[in-house]
Amino acid sequence: MQRNLKKKHIAYRCPECAVATVGLVLGLGDEGGLLRIKCECGGSALDITGGGEDKIKISAPCVYCRDSHSYTLAGSVLGRETLTSLSCPFSGMDIVFLGDMEDISPALDKSANELSVIMASLDAEDVRDIQPQDMDEDECPPDPAIFDTINFVVRDLEAEGRVSCPCASGEYRLRFTDDGMQVYCERCGASFNFHARSAAVAEEYLSLDEIKLG
Ligand SMILES: [Zn+2]
Ligand SMILES: [Zn+2]
Ligand SMILES: [Zn+2]
Repeated sequence: MQRNLKKKHIAYRCPECAVATVGLVLGLGDEGGLLRIKCECGGSALDITGGGEDKIKISAPCVYCRDSHSYTLAGSVLGRETLTSLSCPFSGMDIVFLGDMEDISPALDKSANELSVIMASLDAEDVRDIQPQDMDEDECPPDPAIFDTINFVVRDLEAEGRVSCPCASGEYRLRFTDDGMQVYCERCGASFNFHARSAAVAEEYLSLDEIKLG
């Protein structure tokens, strides 16, 4: 794992109080160190573990779903110069930011704006009003393992500059589709579809070496 972690921070927004919490990423190793970043309100926490094999795992509370989402990333993401944003697979919104503080601050401002637009459109006064109360039992939620694998593929290639779109925004989000997942550019709308209805099929995408959104 690359060791220039000194300036790397991670941030998320609390599903209970909507306040963003930022922590320094320190002490992760291949031995599986755990880092927990808690919101001051005591209502939520984000966990990062050094998962071995040069991978890290993040479990982050989602301000849009209230539940946590899990992400596996290549350890090399921590050595990346640019910001890594992780999105909620249900809403597509960015909920975790990993990188230098100077990149995290504007990303948090943007996410605060997005949240207030959504809250206003739903006439919500409290962030908890936008979160689903109960998952519909009939509705079978997509497999989180599919998301974790596809997210790994996209963020790994992104860290190497091998994800591109016509507008070259460099900001790519992921969301579930009827037959798998989609990575899309928020700015120009270009997208790439992963046809994966099972975790085993999703793993076939691990051999991708480039993603061109169109
Ligand atoms: Zn909180
Ligand atoms: Zn979510
Ligand atoms: Zn674009």
